[in-house]
Amino acid sequence: MIPEFTAETADQWRGAVFFGLAAVFIVAESLFPDRPRAMTRRQRWPGNFLLVVLGGAIARFLPVGALAGAALFAHAQGIGAFHWLTSAGIGVPVWAQWIISLLVLDFAVWAFHLAAHRIPFLWVFHRVHHADPDIDVTTALRFHPGEIALSSLYKAGFVIFLGAPVLAAVLFEMILNGLAMFNHANWRIPPRIDRILRLFVVTPAFHRMHHAMETGHNRNFGFCLSIWDQLFGQMVVPTADRAALQIGLPEYRATRQHSPLALLVQPFVPPPRDPSQKSLGDGPLRSCAVPLCSAPWSAFTKVESGFRLNVL
Ligand SMILES: [Zn+2]
Repeated sequence: MIPEFTAETADQWRGAVFFGLAAVFIVAESLFPDRPRAMTRRQRWPGNFLLVVLGGAIARFLPVGALAGAALFAHAQGIGAFHWLTSAGIGVPVWAQWIISLLVLDFAVWAFHLAAHRIPFLWVFHRVHHADPDIDVTTALRFHPGEIALSSLYKAGFVIFLGAPVLAAVLFEMILNGLAMFNHANWRIPPRIDRILRLFVVTPAFHRMHHAMETGHNRNFGFCLSIWDQLFGQMVVPTADRAALQIGLPEYRATRQHSPLALLVQPFVPPPRDPSQKSLGDGPLRSCAVPLCSAPWSAFTKVESGFRLNVL
């Protein structure tokens, strides 16, 4: 642990990385767009930005809202698996603590995301993220304050349980934030590069499938590493014709439903019924029209439930 490293220092690092990467990806998605927009930025961004500001405030003011605070707390108290192992004479090398911490935290985030799609109480908060009719950099940050608070406490619990190195916790938070903006950005990466990247990392095309009605928003749960979806059979290969995908939820297609106030109250109001469509928005479990695939290198084209998957 670096003595002079404080939660304030971590905030400055996170802020610099956040604003730097956000600017880069906003420019990238403007220059190399992947899909046409369903709504204008003026219609979506005020609500999304409000949630960004509220989410940042929670991370700043919740006692362990930022993972650096949780890691500093564990070190100050001498608690957590790595500390206990050291006390028992079983020293874990620092490099191993880093690798274990980064992998465990990423798996924990994957598991929380899966749970958010399976447990109704979590889904009504996570639904705010999925109701976005488009997907771009701001979608990566469009999380209801209720979900931010719950997920922050959950991640902090893992950091404290591990007694994770402070800088590893800070790095993980920056990677998570940066990769979320990377894979939500509406930009097109050359297919050959995407195929290599998605062996290990969640790419924009990979994550786009998670937001598609065709997958029931029920596949590709990873934010950083794609290995968890592959290991646990939750992965679908990105389709080449992503412009044809329907992003969002059918009950939330009206502009007024994406105003700042509407997003804040959405978890507490039942979704409107759309008689023309099968409801996707009021339950965490929805059917997936796309066949599961256990390996990213599988090349197949399959027609199922009317949805044709042309593999990217
Ligand atoms: Zn999700």
